[in-house]
Amino acid sequence: MEILYNSTRSKENPVKASEAILKGLSEDGGLFVPERIPALDKNFTELSEMTYAETAYQVMKLYLTDFTEEELKGCIARAYDDKFDREEIAPLVEADGAFYLELFHGATVAFKDMALSILPHLMTVSAKKNHVKNEIVILTATSGDTGKAALSGFADVEGTRIIVFYPKCGVSPIQEKQMVTQKGKNTYVVGIHGNFDDAQSGVKEIFGDKELAAYMDEKGFQFSSANSINIGRLVPQIVYYVYSYAKLLKQSVIRDGEKINVVVPTGNFGNILAAFYAKQMGVPIDKLICASNENKVLYDFLRTGTYDRNREFVLTSSPSMDILISSNLERLIYHIAGNDPEKNKDLMKKLSQGGVYTITEEMRGKLSGFYGNYASEEETAKTIRGLYDRTGYVIDTHTAVASCVYEKYKEETKDAKTAVIASTASPYKFTRSVMEAIDCEHAQMGDFELADRLSELSKVKVPKAIEEIRTAPVVHDHVCGKTEMKKMVMNFLKI
Ligand SMILES: *Cc1c(COP(=O)(O)O)cnc(C)c1O
Repeated sequence: MEILYNSTRSKENPVKASEAILKGLSEDGGLFVPERIPALDKNFTELSEMTYAETAYQVMKLYLTDFTEEELKGCIARAYDDKFDREEIAPLVEADGAFYLELFHGATVAFKDMALSILPHLMTVSAKKNHVKNEIVILTATSGDTGKAALSGFADVEGTRIIVFYPKCGVSPIQEKQMVTQKGKNTYVVGIHGNFDDAQSGVKEIFGDKELAAYMDEKGFQFSSANSINIGRLVPQIVYYVYSYAKLLKQSVIRDGEKINVVVPTGNFGNILAAFYAKQMGVPIDKLICASNENKVLYDFLRTGTYDRNREFVLTSSPSMDILISSNLERLIYHIAGNDPEKNKDLMKKLSQGGVYTITEEMRGKLSGFYGNYASEEETAKTIRGLYDRTGYVIDTHTAVASCVYEKYKEETKDAKTAVIASTASPYKFTRSVMEAIDCEHAQMGDFELADRLSELSKVKVPKAIEEIRTAPVVHDHVCGKTEMKKMVMNFLKI
Protein backbone atom coordinates (compact mmCIF):
# COMPACT_ATOMS: atom_id res chain seq x y z
CA MET A 1 0.00 0.00 0.00
CA GLU A 2 1.32 3.39 -0.93
CA ILE A 3 2.64 5.61 1.83
CA LEU A 4 2.81 9.36 1.43
CA TYR A 5 4.77 11.80 3.56
CA ASN A 6 3.33 14.81 5.36
CA SER A 7 5.21 17.69 6.88
CA THR A 8 5.15 17.79 10.69
CA ARG A 9 3.78 21.33 10.33
CA SER A 10 1.01 20.90 7.76
CA LYS A 11 -0.90 18.10 6.08
CA GLU A 12 -1.66 20.10 2.99
CA ASN A 13 0.94 18.83 0.55
CA PRO A 14 1.67 15.14 1.02
CA VAL A 15 4.52 13.92 -1.18
CA LYS A 16 5.85 10.56 -2.35
CA ALA A 17 8.91 9.02 -0.71
CA SER A 18 11.19 9.91 -3.62
CA GLU A 19 10.07 13.55 -3.47
CA ALA A 20 10.62 13.70 0.28
CA ILE A 21 14.15 12.34 -0.22
CA LEU A 22 14.92 14.97 -2.87
CA LYS A 23 13.49 17.84 -0.84
CA GLY A 24 15.01 16.82 2.52
CA LEU A 25 13.04 19.39 4.50
CA SER A 26 9.49 20.52 3.77
CA GLU A 27 9.05 24.08 2.46
CA ASP A 28 7.15 25.06 5.61
CA GLY A 29 10.22 24.15 7.71
CA GLY A 30 8.70 20.89 8.97
CA LEU A 31 10.16 17.38 8.72
CA PHE A 32 8.61 14.72 6.53
CA VAL A 33 6.81 11.90 8.36
CA PRO A 34 5.03 8.85 6.92
CA GLU A 35 1.23 9.29 7.08
CA ARG A 36 1.15 5.98 9.00
CA ILE A 37 3.80 3.60 10.27
CA PRO A 38 3.57 0.33 8.34
CA ALA A 39 3.58 -3.07 10.06
CA LEU A 40 6.21 -5.68 9.17
CA ASP A 41 4.71 -8.18 6.73
CA LYS A 42 7.20 -10.98 7.44
CA ASN A 43 7.36 -12.83 10.77
CA PHE A 44 10.55 -13.14 12.78
CA THR A 45 11.04 -16.83 11.94
CA GLU A 46 11.32 -15.75 8.31
CA LEU A 47 13.39 -12.66 9.11
CA SER A 48 15.82 -14.65 11.24
CA GLU A 49 17.03 -16.49 8.13
CA MET A 50 17.72 -13.28 6.19
CA THR A 51 20.96 -11.42 5.50
CA TYR A 52 21.30 -7.74 6.37
CA ALA A 53 20.54 -6.75 2.75
CA GLU A 54 17.45 -8.98 2.61
CA THR A 55 16.18 -7.54 5.90
CA ALA A 56 16.85 -4.03 4.60
CA TYR A 57 14.63 -4.73 1.61
CA GLN A 58 11.80 -6.09 3.78
CA VAL A 59 11.81 -2.95 5.93
CA MET A 60 12.52 -0.26 3.36
CA LYS A 61 9.98 -1.47 0.78
CA LEU A 62 7.24 -0.67 3.30
CA TYR A 63 8.32 3.00 3.45
CA LEU A 64 9.69 3.76 -0.01
CA THR A 65 6.57 2.64 -1.79
CA ASP A 66 7.22 4.48 -5.04
CA PHE A 67 10.51 2.61 -5.58
CA THR A 68 10.32 -0.58 -7.67
CA GLU A 69 11.73 -3.80 -6.26
CA GLU A 70 14.61 -3.61 -8.72
CA GLU A 71 15.43 0.00 -7.83
CA LEU A 72 15.40 -0.58 -4.09
CA LYS A 73 17.37 -3.83 -4.25
CA GLY A 74 19.91 -2.05 -6.48
CA CYS A 75 20.36 0.74 -3.91
CA ILE A 76 20.78 -1.79 -1.09
CA ALA A 77 23.31 -3.87 -3.02
CA ARG A 78 25.43 -0.82 -3.82
CA ALA A 79 25.35 0.39 -0.21
CA TYR A 80 25.95 -2.69 1.94
CA ASP A 81 28.86 -4.31 0.14
CA ASP A 82 32.55 -4.70 0.88
CA LYS A 83 32.74 -1.09 2.09
CA PHE A 84 31.82 -2.83 5.33
CA ASP A 85 34.53 -4.95 6.87
CA ARG A 86 32.09 -7.54 8.28
CA GLU A 87 29.74 -9.70 6.30
CA GLU A 88 26.99 -9.30 8.91
CA ILE A 89 27.23 -5.50 8.34
CA ALA A 90 26.06 -4.90 11.93
CA PRO A 91 27.40 -7.67 14.23
CA LEU A 92 25.98 -8.26 17.71
CA VAL A 93 28.64 -8.75 20.37
CA GLU A 94 27.80 -9.97 23.86
CA ALA A 95 29.80 -8.41 26.68
CA ASP A 96 29.05 -8.31 30.36
CA GLY A 97 25.44 -9.39 29.94
CA ALA A 98 24.39 -6.96 27.19
CA PHE A 99 24.43 -7.14 23.39
CA TYR A 100 26.42 -4.44 21.64
CA LEU A 101 25.09 -3.81 18.14
CA GLU A 102 28.24 -2.70 16.31
CA LEU A 103 27.14 -0.10 13.78
CA PHE A 104 30.67 1.01 12.95
CA HIS A 105 31.99 -1.42 10.37
CA GLY A 106 31.54 0.95 7.40
CA ALA A 107 33.87 3.33 5.60
CA THR A 108 34.28 5.87 8.39
CA VAL A 109 34.03 3.54 11.41
CA ALA A 110 30.93 5.27 12.84
CA PHE A 111 27.23 4.59 12.62
CA LYS A 112 26.36 7.43 10.24
CA ASP A 113 27.73 5.14 7.53
CA MET A 114 24.66 2.92 7.96
CA ALA A 115 22.46 5.61 6.39
CA LEU A 116 24.97 7.62 4.38
CA SER A 117 26.08 4.54 2.43
CA ILE A 118 22.63 4.21 0.93
CA LEU A 119 21.34 7.81 0.79
CA PRO A 120 23.29 8.74 -2.40
CA HIS A 121 21.72 5.83 -4.25
CA LEU A 122 18.23 6.60 -2.95
CA MET A 123 18.80 10.17 -4.10
CA THR A 124 19.93 9.37 -7.64
CA VAL A 125 17.02 6.95 -8.11
CA SER A 126 14.64 9.61 -6.72
CA ALA A 127 16.08 12.16 -9.14
CA LYS A 128 15.47 9.85 -12.11
CA LYS A 129 11.92 9.07 -10.97
CA ASN A 130 11.12 12.76 -10.75
CA HIS A 131 12.72 13.58 -14.11
CA VAL A 132 15.42 15.72 -12.58
CA LYS A 133 17.93 16.32 -15.37
CA ASN A 134 20.43 18.33 -13.34
CA GLU A 135 23.44 16.94 -11.56
CA ILE A 136 22.86 16.97 -7.81
CA VAL A 137 25.36 18.97 -5.78
CA ILE A 138 25.46 18.03 -2.10
CA LEU A 139 26.64 20.86 0.14
CA THR A 140 27.65 20.05 3.69
CA ALA A 141 29.13 21.95 6.59
CA THR A 142 30.74 19.63 9.08
CA SER A 143 32.30 19.71 12.51
CA GLY A 144 34.15 16.53 11.56
CA ASP A 145 32.16 13.32 11.38
CA THR A 146 29.25 13.86 9.03
CA GLY A 147 31.54 15.38 6.38
CA LYS A 148 33.63 12.26 5.99
CA ALA A 149 30.66 9.90 6.09
CA ALA A 150 28.88 11.96 3.41
CA LEU A 151 32.06 12.18 1.29
CA SER A 152 32.60 8.45 1.24
CA GLY A 153 28.90 7.81 0.61
CA PHE A 154 28.74 10.12 -2.42
CA ALA A 155 32.27 9.51 -3.81
CA ASP A 156 32.00 8.48 -7.46
CA VAL A 157 28.20 8.13 -7.36
CA GLU A 158 27.12 9.06 -10.86
CA GLY A 159 25.02 12.19 -11.25
CA THR A 160 26.23 13.71 -7.98
CA ARG A 161 28.96 16.01 -6.67
CA ILE A 162 29.75 16.64 -3.05
CA ILE A 163 31.30 19.73 -1.49
CA VAL A 164 32.27 19.73 2.19
CA PHE A 165 33.25 22.80 4.20
CA TYR A 166 34.96 22.34 7.56
CA PRO A 167 36.52 24.76 10.07
CA LYS A 168 40.23 24.61 9.19
CA CYS A 169 41.32 24.75 12.82
CA GLY A 170 38.21 23.20 14.39
CA VAL A 171 38.43 19.46 13.68
CA SER A 172 40.75 16.78 15.06
CA PRO A 173 43.90 15.88 13.07
CA ILE A 174 42.48 12.43 12.27
CA GLN A 175 39.16 13.90 11.14
CA GLU A 176 40.96 16.37 8.87
CA LYS A 177 43.20 13.66 7.45
CA GLN A 178 40.15 11.48 6.77
CA MET A 179 38.57 14.24 4.71
CA VAL A 180 41.55 15.65 2.80
CA THR A 181 42.58 12.18 1.63
CA GLN A 182 39.10 11.42 0.23
CA LYS A 183 39.23 9.90 -3.25
CA GLY A 184 36.57 10.36 -5.93
CA LYS A 185 36.55 12.80 -8.83
CA ASN A 186 33.22 14.29 -7.72
CA THR A 187 34.47 15.23 -4.23
CA TYR A 188 35.63 18.64 -3.05
CA VAL A 189 36.82 19.51 0.45
CA VAL A 190 37.49 23.04 1.69
CA GLY A 191 38.83 24.25 5.03
CA ILE A 192 37.47 27.65 5.98
CA HIS A 193 39.07 30.30 8.17
CA GLY A 194 36.30 30.33 10.76
CA ASN A 195 34.42 28.04 13.11
CA PHE A 196 31.69 25.46 12.50
CA ASP A 197 28.92 28.07 12.80
CA ASP A 198 30.58 30.15 10.06
CA ALA A 199 30.71 27.09 7.82
CA GLN A 200 27.07 26.27 8.53
CA SER A 201 25.83 29.84 8.00
CA GLY A 202 27.79 30.02 4.74
CA VAL A 203 26.15 26.83 3.49
CA LYS A 204 22.69 28.04 4.54
CA GLU A 205 23.28 31.29 2.68
CA ILE A 206 24.23 29.45 -0.50
CA PHE A 207 21.12 27.23 -0.17
CA GLY A 208 18.94 30.33 0.20
CA ASP A 209 20.45 32.20 -2.79
CA LYS A 210 17.64 32.13 -5.40
CA GLU A 211 19.71 33.88 -8.06
CA LEU A 212 22.47 31.32 -7.72
CA ALA A 213 19.92 28.49 -7.88
CA ALA A 214 18.55 29.84 -11.18
CA TYR A 215 22.06 30.18 -12.61
CA MET A 216 22.96 26.67 -11.47
CA ASP A 217 19.82 25.29 -13.09
CA GLU A 218 20.83 26.94 -16.36
CA LYS A 219 24.20 25.19 -16.11
CA GLY A 220 22.66 21.81 -15.22
CA PHE A 221 23.14 21.67 -11.44
CA GLN A 222 20.96 21.79 -8.34
CA PHE A 223 21.77 21.73 -4.65
CA SER A 224 20.62 19.14 -2.14
CA SER A 225 21.55 18.22 1.40
CA ALA A 226 22.55 15.01 3.15
CA ASN A 227 21.19 16.36 6.42
CA SER A 228 20.20 13.94 9.19
CA ILE A 229 16.54 14.94 8.98
CA ASN A 230 16.15 13.47 5.48
CA ILE A 231 13.84 10.43 5.57
CA GLY A 232 16.44 8.79 3.33
CA ARG A 233 18.64 8.77 6.43
CA LEU A 234 15.93 7.76 8.90
CA VAL A 235 14.40 4.76 7.12
CA PRO A 236 17.68 2.81 6.61
CA GLN A 237 18.27 3.04 10.36
CA ILE A 238 15.07 1.17 11.23
CA VAL A 239 16.60 -1.88 9.57
CA TYR A 240 19.24 -2.62 12.17
CA TYR A 241 16.70 -2.92 14.99
CA VAL A 242 14.67 -5.44 13.00
CA TYR A 243 17.88 -7.26 12.08
CA SER A 244 19.21 -7.43 15.63
CA TYR A 245 15.94 -8.80 17.01
CA ALA A 246 15.95 -11.46 14.28
CA LYS A 247 19.57 -12.37 15.07
CA LEU A 248 18.85 -12.70 18.82
CA LEU A 249 16.03 -15.07 17.93
CA LYS A 250 18.23 -17.03 15.53
CA GLN A 251 20.88 -17.43 18.24
CA SER A 252 18.15 -18.59 20.69
CA VAL A 253 18.97 -15.77 23.08
CA ILE A 254 15.25 -14.91 23.12
CA ARG A 255 11.97 -16.66 22.31
CA ASP A 256 9.81 -15.33 19.45
CA GLY A 257 7.75 -12.44 20.79
CA GLU A 258 9.87 -11.96 23.91
CA LYS A 259 10.42 -8.28 24.60
CA ILE A 260 13.86 -6.66 24.62
CA ASN A 261 15.14 -3.25 25.69
CA VAL A 262 17.10 -0.98 23.37
CA VAL A 263 19.68 1.56 24.55
CA VAL A 264 20.75 4.41 22.26
CA PRO A 265 23.41 7.10 22.80
CA THR A 266 21.49 10.10 21.55
CA GLY A 267 22.27 13.50 20.01
CA ASN A 268 19.99 14.56 17.21
CA PHE A 269 17.40 11.88 18.12
CA GLY A 270 17.65 10.15 14.70
CA ASN A 271 18.88 6.75 15.80
CA ILE A 272 16.47 6.34 18.72
CA LEU A 273 13.57 7.56 16.59
CA ALA A 274 14.39 4.74 14.17
CA ALA A 275 14.11 2.31 17.12
CA PHE A 276 10.74 3.88 18.00
CA TYR A 277 9.54 3.30 14.43
CA ALA A 278 10.80 -0.31 14.59
CA LYS A 279 8.73 -0.79 17.74
CA GLN A 280 5.61 0.65 16.07
CA MET A 281 6.19 -1.74 13.15
CA GLY A 282 5.95 -4.74 15.46
CA VAL A 283 9.45 -5.41 16.80
CA PRO A 284 8.88 -6.55 20.42
CA ILE A 285 10.72 -3.72 22.13
CA ASP A 286 9.78 -2.74 25.67
CA LYS A 287 11.83 0.27 26.78
CA LEU A 288 13.63 2.72 24.52
CA ILE A 289 16.46 3.90 26.73
CA CYS A 290 17.66 7.34 25.70
CA ALA A 291 21.23 8.04 26.85
CA SER A 292 22.65 11.57 26.97
CA ASN A 293 26.04 12.98 27.90
CA GLU A 294 26.36 16.13 30.04
CA ASN A 295 24.28 18.02 27.46
CA LYS A 296 21.27 16.35 29.07
CA VAL A 297 18.38 18.29 27.48
CA LEU A 298 16.60 15.07 26.56
CA TYR A 299 16.93 13.57 30.03
CA ASP A 300 15.37 16.69 31.52
CA PHE A 301 12.65 16.65 28.88
CA LEU A 302 11.69 13.02 29.53
CA ARG A 303 11.71 13.66 33.28
CA THR A 304 9.73 16.92 33.34
CA GLY A 305 7.89 17.34 30.04
CA THR A 306 9.73 20.62 29.45
CA TYR A 307 12.29 20.98 26.68
CA ASP A 308 14.68 23.79 27.49
CA ARG A 309 17.70 24.57 25.38
CA ASN A 310 18.64 27.63 27.45
CA ARG A 311 21.70 26.24 29.16
CA GLU A 312 25.42 26.10 28.82
CA PHE A 313 26.78 24.03 25.97
CA VAL A 314 29.27 21.48 27.33
CA LEU A 315 32.15 20.13 25.24
CA THR A 316 32.47 16.43 26.10
CA SER A 317 34.47 13.39 25.02
CA SER A 318 31.40 12.24 23.05
CA PRO A 319 31.27 15.23 20.66
CA SER A 320 28.72 13.74 18.25
CA MET A 321 26.18 14.00 21.07
CA ASP A 322 27.02 17.58 22.04
CA ILE A 323 23.70 18.97 20.86
CA LEU A 324 21.13 21.24 22.49
CA ILE A 325 18.47 21.09 19.78
CA SER A 326 17.69 17.51 18.78
CA SER A 327 16.09 18.17 15.41
CA ASN A 328 14.54 14.72 14.94
CA LEU A 329 12.63 15.06 18.21
CA GLU A 330 10.12 17.14 16.23
CA ARG A 331 8.90 13.94 14.60
CA LEU A 332 8.22 12.32 17.98
CA ILE A 333 6.44 15.46 19.22
CA TYR A 334 4.21 15.35 16.14
CA HIS A 335 3.36 11.68 16.77
CA ILE A 336 2.61 12.06 20.49
CA ALA A 337 0.45 15.07 19.66
CA GLY A 338 -1.74 12.59 17.75
CA ASN A 339 -0.13 13.42 14.35
CA ASP A 340 -1.37 16.95 14.79
CA PRO A 341 0.67 19.50 12.78
CA GLU A 342 -0.92 22.53 14.46
CA LYS A 343 0.00 21.42 17.97
CA ASN A 344 3.52 20.57 16.84
CA LYS A 345 3.94 23.87 15.00
CA ASP A 346 2.90 25.75 18.09
CA LEU A 347 5.56 24.01 20.22
CA MET A 348 8.28 24.45 17.59
CA LYS A 349 7.49 28.15 17.43
CA LYS A 350 8.03 28.37 21.17
CA LEU A 351 11.32 26.54 20.75
CA SER A 352 12.60 28.93 18.10
CA GLN A 353 11.42 32.03 19.96
CA GLY A 354 12.25 31.34 23.60
CA GLY A 355 14.18 28.07 23.39
CA VAL A 356 11.67 26.26 25.60
CA TYR A 357 8.32 24.45 25.44
CA THR A 358 6.25 22.17 27.66
CA ILE A 359 4.11 19.31 26.38
CA THR A 360 0.67 18.40 27.78
CA GLU A 361 0.04 15.65 30.34
CA GLU A 362 -1.69 13.63 27.63
CA MET A 363 1.41 13.82 25.44
CA ARG A 364 3.64 12.90 28.37
CA GLY A 365 1.54 9.78 28.85
CA LYS A 366 2.58 8.64 25.39
CA LEU A 367 6.24 8.79 26.36
CA SER A 368 5.97 5.94 28.84
CA GLY A 369 7.91 3.66 26.49
CA PHE A 370 10.96 5.89 26.93
CA TYR A 371 13.45 6.02 29.78
CA GLY A 372 16.08 8.76 29.90
CA ASN A 373 19.26 9.27 31.86
CA TYR A 374 22.75 10.67 31.35
CA ALA A 375 26.40 9.96 32.04
CA SER A 376 28.95 12.47 33.32
CA GLU A 377 32.43 12.63 31.79
CA GLU A 378 33.87 10.77 34.75
CA GLU A 379 31.22 8.04 34.59
CA THR A 380 31.83 7.63 30.85
CA ALA A 381 35.55 7.02 31.33
CA LYS A 382 34.87 4.69 34.27
CA THR A 383 32.45 2.66 32.13
CA ILE A 384 35.06 2.15 29.38
CA ARG A 385 37.62 1.12 31.99
CA GLY A 386 35.27 -1.18 33.91
CA LEU A 387 34.03 -3.05 30.86
CA TYR A 388 37.60 -3.45 29.58
CA ASP A 389 38.83 -4.75 32.95
CA ARG A 390 35.99 -7.25 33.26
CA THR A 391 35.83 -8.52 29.68
CA GLY A 392 38.67 -7.13 27.52
CA TYR A 393 36.06 -5.52 25.23
CA VAL A 394 36.76 -1.87 24.37
CA ILE A 395 33.96 0.56 23.51
CA ASP A 396 34.10 4.17 22.35
CA THR A 397 32.98 7.18 24.41
CA HIS A 398 29.50 7.47 22.83
CA THR A 399 28.75 3.81 23.37
CA ALA A 400 30.07 4.14 26.91
CA VAL A 401 27.47 6.82 27.64
CA ALA A 402 24.80 4.30 26.61
CA SER A 403 26.39 1.49 28.58
CA CYS A 404 26.57 3.63 31.72
CA VAL A 405 22.94 4.73 31.39
CA TYR A 406 21.91 1.12 30.91
CA GLU A 407 23.59 0.21 34.21
CA LYS A 408 21.68 3.04 35.92
CA TYR A 409 18.43 1.78 34.40
CA LYS A 410 19.02 -1.77 35.64
CA GLU A 411 19.96 -0.54 39.07
CA GLU A 412 16.78 1.56 39.31
CA THR A 413 14.29 -0.89 37.84
CA LYS A 414 15.83 -4.38 38.26
CA ASP A 415 14.56 -5.01 34.72
CA ALA A 416 16.67 -7.89 33.40
CA LYS A 417 15.25 -8.20 29.86
CA THR A 418 17.75 -8.84 27.07
CA ALA A 419 19.21 -5.50 26.04
CA VAL A 420 20.67 -4.26 22.77
CA ILE A 421 23.05 -1.31 23.12
CA ALA A 422 23.65 0.66 19.92
CA SER A 423 27.43 0.88 19.56
CA THR A 424 27.79 3.97 17.42
CA ALA A 425 31.52 4.36 16.86
CA SER A 426 34.64 2.26 16.80
CA PRO A 427 36.99 2.97 19.71
CA TYR A 428 39.55 3.75 16.97
CA LYS A 429 37.58 6.84 16.03
CA PHE A 430 37.98 8.39 19.48
CA THR A 431 41.26 6.72 20.35
CA ARG A 432 42.67 9.40 22.61
CA SER A 433 39.70 9.60 24.96
CA VAL A 434 39.40 5.81 25.01
CA MET A 435 43.09 5.37 25.81
CA GLU A 436 42.90 8.01 28.52
CA ALA A 437 40.36 5.75 30.19
CA ILE A 438 42.25 2.46 29.92
CA ASP A 439 45.96 3.13 29.59
CA CYS A 440 48.05 5.50 31.66
CA GLU A 441 50.93 5.52 29.17
CA HIS A 442 48.96 7.24 26.42
CA ALA A 443 49.91 10.86 26.99
CA GLN A 444 53.04 11.21 24.84
CA MET A 445 51.87 9.10 21.95
CA GLY A 446 50.85 10.34 18.48
CA ASP A 447 47.46 9.41 17.04
CA PHE A 448 48.60 6.40 15.04
CA GLU A 449 50.87 5.14 17.79
CA LEU A 450 47.84 5.25 20.06
CA ALA A 451 45.88 3.18 17.55
CA ASP A 452 48.62 0.54 17.53
CA ARG A 453 48.66 0.47 21.32
CA LEU A 454 44.86 0.12 21.42
CA SER A 455 45.15 -2.79 19.02
CA GLU A 456 47.60 -4.50 21.39
CA LEU A 457 45.34 -3.98 24.38
CA SER A 458 42.02 -4.85 22.76
CA LYS A 459 43.33 -7.59 20.44
CA VAL A 460 41.25 -6.04 17.64
CA LYS A 461 43.00 -5.14 14.39
CA VAL A 462 43.24 -1.46 13.46
CA PRO A 463 40.32 -0.97 11.02
CA LYS A 464 41.12 -0.60 7.34
CA ALA A 465 39.62 2.91 7.30
CA ILE A 466 42.18 4.09 9.87
CA GLU A 467 45.09 2.16 8.32
CA GLU A 468 44.40 3.75 4.96
CA ILE A 469 44.66 7.34 6.08
CA ARG A 470 47.98 6.67 7.80
CA THR A 471 49.76 6.71 4.45
CA ALA A 472 47.16 8.14 2.05
CA PRO A 473 48.22 11.21 0.06
CA VAL A 474 46.48 14.54 0.72
CA VAL A 475 44.37 15.32 -2.35
CA HIS A 476 42.39 18.32 -1.11
CA ASP A 477 44.23 21.42 0.06
CA HIS A 478 41.69 24.17 -0.61
CA VAL A 479 41.22 26.84 2.03
CA CYS A 480 39.10 29.99 1.90
CA GLY A 481 37.76 32.85 3.96
CA LYS A 482 34.22 32.59 5.25
CA THR A 483 32.96 35.07 2.66
CA GLU A 484 34.46 33.12 -0.25
CA MET A 485 32.46 29.92 0.02
CA LYS A 486 30.15 30.68 -2.89
CA LYS A 487 33.15 31.45 -5.10
CA MET A 488 34.69 28.09 -4.15
CA VAL A 489 31.49 26.30 -5.16
CA MET A 490 31.46 28.02 -8.55
CA ASN A 491 35.15 27.25 -9.10
CA PHE A 492 34.61 23.59 -8.39
CA LEU A 493 31.62 23.38 -10.75
CA LYS A 494 33.53 25.47 -13.31
CA ILE A 495 30.57 27.76 -13.84
C1 LIG B 1 25.69 11.10 15.40
C2 LIG B 1 26.19 10.21 16.48
C3 LIG B 1 25.40 9.91 17.62
C4 LIG B 1 24.02 10.50 17.85
O1 LIG B 1 23.08 9.96 16.97
P1 LIG B 1 21.69 10.72 16.74
O2 LIG B 1 21.01 9.94 15.67
O3 LIG B 1 22.07 12.11 16.28
O4 LIG B 1 20.96 10.73 18.02
C5 LIG B 1 25.91 9.03 18.56
N1 LIG B 1 27.14 8.50 18.44
C6 LIG B 1 27.93 8.77 17.36
C7 LIG B 1 29.28 8.16 17.29
C8 LIG B 1 27.48 9.63 16.34
O5 LIG B 1 28.28 9.89 15.31
